Amino acid sequence: MAGRLTAAILVVSDTAYQDSSSDRVVGTLNDVFAAEGSNSWDRPISKIVPDDVLQIQRAVCDWADGPDLVNLIVISGGTGFAVKDNTPEAVSPLLHRQAPGLVHGMIAASLSITPFAMMARPVAGTRHKSLVITLPGSPKGAKENLEAVIKLLPHACTQAAGADSRAQHAGGVKKLEAEAGVKPESHSGQHHHHNHHHHHDHSHGHGHVIPRAHTSPSERRSNDPAAGATRRYRESPYPMLSVDEALKLISRHTPAPEIVEVPVDIDLVGYVIAEDVYASEAVPAYLASIVDGYAVIAPDSAGDGHSTKGVFPVASITHANEGGTLAPLETGTIARITTGAPLPPNANAVVMVEDTLLASSTPDGKEEATVEILTGDIKPNENVRQPGSDVKLGSRILQRGDLITPVGGEIGLLAATGTRTVKVFKKPTVGVLSTGDELIEHNDPRQLQGGQIRDSNRPSILSCLKSWGIPAIDLGIARDTPVGELEQSLRDALRGVGNASNGVDVIITTGGVSMGELDLLKPTIERSLGGTIHFGRVSMKPGKPTTFATVPFKPVSAEGQQERSSRLIFSLPGNPASALVTLNLFVLPSLHKLMGLGQKPVALGLAPTLGLPLVSVALSHQFPVDPKRTEYHRAIITARKDGRLYATSTGAEGVGQRSSRVGSLASANALLVLQPGKGSIAPGTLVEALLMGPVVQGD
Ligand code: AMP
Ligand code: MG
Repeated sequence: MAGRLTAAILVVSDTAYQDSSSDRVVGTLNDVFAAEGSNSWDRPISKIVPDDVLQIQRAVCDWADGPDLVNLIVISGGTGFAVKDNTPEAVSPLLHRQAPGLVHGMIAASLSITPFAMMARPVAGTRHKSLVITLPGSPKGAKENLEAVIKLLPHACTQAAGADSRAQHAGGVKKLEAEAGVKPESHSGQHHHHNHHHHHDHSHGHGHVIPRAHTSPSERRSNDPAAGATRRYRESPYPMLSVDEALKLISRHTPAPEIVEVPVDIDLVGYVIAEDVYASEAVPAYLASIVDGYAVIAPDSAGDGHSTKGVFPVASITHANEGGTLAPLETGTIARITTGAPLPPNANAVVMVEDTLLASSTPDGKEEATVEILTGDIKPNENVRQPGSDVKLGSRILQRGDLITPVGGEIGLLAATGTRTVKVFKKPTVGVLSTGDELIEHNDPRQLQGGQIRDSNRPSILSCLKSWGIPAIDLGIARDTPVGELEQSLRDALRGVGNASNGVDVIITTGGVSMGELDLLKPTIERSLGGTIHFGRVSMKPGKPTTFATVPFKPVSAEGQQERSSRLIFSLPGNPASALVTLNLFVLPSLHKLMGLGQKPVALGLAPTLGLPLVSVALSHQFPVDPKRTEYHRAIITARKDGRLYATSTGAEGVGQRSSRVGSLASANALLVLQPGKGSIAPGTLVEALLMGPVVQGD
C-alpha cells in the first residue's frame, strides 16, 4: 500500500470541456492504470481543460508544484498539427528536465501501428518531482502510447521523486527490467518467475520504498485512508467557514426543483405548487341560501314586486342536496329552502325561518300549506350567496410557491373548485446512513459490549424528515471496516439499489467526519466518488466538522438520454446533538429549496426564507457563551402570560449541552443562536431563536 504512486490525467479538448460526458480518455486511461495492479497506482485524479495554454499550465502546476505533488501527470490531446493544438507549447516551458527517451519510446510504439505516428509532437520530462508526459487525444492512441511506457514509469517517477538511486540500481538493470515486467527483445518470454522473486527479495530494502506525496493535491484535501494513521492530517485542512458562508454554498449547489403533475388528494399535503392554479368552477356554482327559511321574490329598489310581509302558500321545497332543475317561483308564493340549497328561478332572497310562523297545514297535518312572514323588510340578495362570490370562475386560487398545508385550506380550495390535478415541485428523496464500527441497531436485543453504541441518529433523523413531509429511505449502517463498505453504501443509494430502488437525491450521513483515521467520509466522497467537498468545517458549536458535498450523477432519462445533475451529500457529525442541530440548520433549508419553497414571486429584495423560522425570545436565566464559535443552544421556548416568549436551556450546566448528550434535544423546541463573546448573557436579554417545534404555554 505504502508503495503506490499517484497519477493525474489531464484531458485537453474543447469538446470534452464543453460536455464532459463526451470524454472517453479518462475512463480508458484509468483502465490502463488499473491493469497495472492495485499496488502500483492509486486511482488517478483527472481534469478536463480546453485547448488553452494558460489553463493547461495551471493544471500542470497545481499538480506538480508545492507539497501536494502527484508523481505522474499524463496529458492527452492537443499534440497534433491543427492550429488549436498547443499542448507541447504549453507543457515544454514548464519542464525542468526533458525526457526524450520516453518520447522516442512512445513514437516508436505508435509507428509500429501507423505511420501517422510521425504526426504527433509528444513531449516528456520532469517538473520538480513529477514526471509529465503527453499522449495523443484519441482514446485508442492515448492507450497505446501509455501502455508503451507504463511499465517503466514507476521507476522513473520514483527517481524523479528523489529516491536513493544507488539503492534502486543495486540489483542492476536486469532487476529493474524484471520489476518493470519488461525485457529487451532478446530475452522475451523468460523471467516470469524472477519477477516475483525479486519483489520479495528486496521488499525490505530501502531501494524499494517508493516515496509518495504526503498530502494530496489541493482539490483533494481529505486524508488518504491507505496512508494510515501516522500520515493523517493533524489539523483539518478544510477552511473554517461561518454558518452564513456555509448556508450560501448549500443554497448555490442545491439544484432547482423539478415539476411534476399530481392528482388532488390528501397525499398532496406537503407539496409546493409549481404553477399558478385558476378556478375551473365558480364557488358557489349557483345562487345559494345561507340560512334555513323561505325563498321569496323581494321587491327591488324600483319598488317592483310586493312586500314580503303576509301569508303565502308554500309552493315547493328545496334541500341542499338538490340536483337537476327547479320549477320557477311564481309571484305570491314562497319556497321552503335549507342552508346551502339553490334558490328556485325568480326567487332573489331568503327569509329566515325565525322570522316566520306556520299559518296552516295540509289536510294530513304533515306539511306546511301556508306560512306567515313577519317582516316586510326583506331586500333582494338578502341571505343568499351569489354564484362565484366565494371563488370567481377563472380566478387564481393558488400561486407558484404556495405550500399545501395540513391545515387544509389549500386542499379545500382545490377540492371546492373541482381541480383534478395540479403541477407541483417534486419532493426530494433522502437517504439516511449511519457510519461507524461501534454502532448497533437501536432495537438489537443483545447487551452492549465493549465500545458499542446504539444507533440513535438514524431514528432521530428519519423522524425529523417524516415530520417535514420528506420521503426518506433508511440506508442502514455502513461499517468503517472493511474499507469499501461506505463507498458501496453511498454508490448503491445514489444508483438505486435495495431500499433506495430509485436512487436518492440527497444523502445524509452521520459520523466519520472527525479527525480520526477511520473518519472516511471526506476521502470516500472525494477520492472514490469523484465528488466535490464544498465545505468541511464550520465555526459553530456543536457541529464543527459538518461537511457538504456534491457528487456528479448521470441519470438515464426515459428516452435513454443521459442527463447531467448532481446529488447532495450532507455528512453530519456523529454526536447525536451535533447531528440534529446541523440537520435542522443546514439540511432543512436545502430540502426546502429542493421541494420548491422559496419559489414564490416576492417583492424585489425580499428573499424568501428557507429553513426554521426565526423568532426573538427573552432568556429566562443566564446563558454561558463560547469565546469563538456561534452556539446553537438547545432550549425550550414557552409563551408566558405576559405575551412574550421565554427561553430555558435543556441543560445549561457543564455537561448539559455537550454535543454527545442526546438528551439535550429531548423536549427542546428551539435552537438559541448565541453569538460568541466573553462570559455569559444575562437573563432577560433578547436573543434569536430558531423554532423547531410548537411553542408551549407557560405560566
Ligand atoms: P465519529 O465522528 O464517527 O467519530 O463520531 C463521533 C461520535 O458520535 C462517536 O462517539 C460516535 O460513536 C458517535 N456516533 C456516531 N454515529 C452515531 C449514531 N448513529 N448514533 C449515536 N452515536 C453516534
Ligand atoms: Mg465513526
